[in-house]
Amino acid sequence: MDNIVILKINFNFGYGENTIYPVILQDENEMILVDCGYADFLPMLEEAACKRHVDFSRLTKVIVTHHDHDHMGSLAEIKQKYPNVQVVASEKDAPYVSGRLKSLRLEQAEQTQSMLPPEQQEAGKAFQNILRTVENVEVDMTVKNGDYFTWCGGIEILETPGHMPGHISIYLKKFKVLISGDALAIENGNLEIAAPQFTLDMTEAKKSVSKLIKYDIQKIICYHGGEYQGNISNALGNIENIF
Ligand SMILES: [Zn+2]
Repeated sequence: MDNIVILKINFNFGYGENTIYPVILQDENEMILVDCGYADFLPMLEEAACKRHVDFSRLTKVIVTHHDHDHMGSLAEIKQKYPNVQVVASEKDAPYVSGRLKSLRLEQAEQTQSMLPPEQQEAGKAFQNILRTVENVEVDMTVKNGDYFTWCGGIEILETPGHMPGHISIYLKKFKVLISGDALAIENGNLEIAAPQFTLDMTEAKKSVSKLIKYDIQKIICYHGGEYQGNISNALGNIENIF
C-alpha cells in the first residue's frame, strides 16, 4: 500500500484547464484526505482515488488546510455520504469551517469589490455568491502547531499563516514530504507563495516560508501545482528574496 497518494483532479470552469492535487495518506487503520476540492467534487475525488486503486470508502479523516472553497468545498458532501469521517482543521480555522465566523475570503471579496474595475464587477459579485454557497461543516478535531499523530507513518501539523491566519501545512517526517496546502504553489515550474492577491498577510506568508526552511524536506506537494522536488531549501530561500 502506498502511504502517500497524490490525486490529480482536472477541471474547467469555463476559463481554461485547471488542476488541483488533494492528497490521500493511508495505513492499515487510517485513510486521510488532505483538502477536498470545490463543491460537487466528491465523484471526482472518488474516481481519482479509484484510478490509483485506493478504496475511498475507507476514508477516516479529512484534514482541511484552510477554509477556502477550493479546499473545503466538498466537505459537506463527504460528511453526508461518509458520516463517520472526522473533519480536522486548525484551532484558528475551525470557526470558519464550521461557519461560526464569516469566511475571511468572503470578507476580503466584499471589501475589494468597489475597487474592482467596471469590467470585473460582475465577476467579483459572482465570486462572492460562490463563497456564500459554501456549505459549512462541524469540525470534529482541532489541531495546532507541533501536534504530532502516528497516523500513516507519522504526521506533524505546521501552522503556516499568511494565505489565511489559520492555515496549516502537513509534514511527513518519515518520507521527508511537506503537504503545503496554499502556503506554497508551483507557477511555471517555480515554487512560489500561492496567489499573492489571495494572500491575506504577505509578511506572515514569508515568515511561514522561512519556518519551512528548517525542515528536512525532499518533496513538496502543492495543492496548486503538484509535486516539487529538487533543491528545496534554495527554492524556499529564493521566495524570501523575490517577494
Ligand atoms: Zn487554494
